[in-house]
Amino acid sequence: MSFSIAIDGPAGAGKSTIAKEIAKRLGYIYVDTGAMYRAMALFIIQKDIKPEEEEKISLACKDADITIEYEKGEQLVILNGENVTPFIRSEEVGNMASASASNRNVRLKLVDLQRELAAKTNVIMDGRDIGTYVLPKANVKVFLTASSKVRAKRRYEELTQKGLSCNIEEIESDIIERDRRDSTREFAPLRQADDAVLIDSSDMTVEEVINAIINLVK
Ligand code: C5P
Repeated sequence: MSFSIAIDGPAGAGKSTIAKEIAKRLGYIYVDTGAMYRAMALFIIQKDIKPEEEEKISLACKDADITIEYEKGEQLVILNGENVTPFIRSEEVGNMASASASNRNVRLKLVDLQRELAAKTNVIMDGRDIGTYVLPKANVKVFLTASSKVRAKRRYEELTQKGLSCNIEEIESDIIERDRRDSTREFAPLRQADDAVLIDSSDMTVEEVINAIINLVK
């Protein structure tokens, strides 16, 4: 039986930083489900489909073959045979991911892949619906959040470090809009699972959050 840790929460709460490090320390596989939604979004952008064209998204997503590979412990997302990992971190792709993630067909397709991965090995998986929908029997569930101001500041720093120019107010309003869309969609919305532990990381260091989660696992 494989062991699974589910980390859900709003955009920019630090889920991937934390999950990646815990995976390293515990020898688990880290599964970044947001990257799968982002790869799907890239495919939709390449097809010139607009976020509101629901029917087109439903049809097009059938042609996107998305898989995950690991290279030196890092997750790579493969879209129709091409490694698209370097191209999915922009705000444009993030916003399309948030819009297309409300599409039922998109979700069903990616959830199958996520469940397959978790059935094979010990995973720490982050996303929005892992504890509530993808892995309802996960052994440990965490809902990781922080204030929208803190989350915007973290995203801003992450993007500027990568040399991308951005505006902090725009990032905060994007984050608020993404959270609204994620929490109000009909199918598998963002919400804290009844049996998830809430961690607000606004005033916590990365190390403190990691230790809190590892203690839960122990
Ligand atoms: O976490 P990240 O920002 O990379 O995710 C991109 C978008 O994908 C999110 O804004 C969210 O709308 C969507 N997503 C989702 N369910 C997941 C993971 C991500 O709906 N499990």
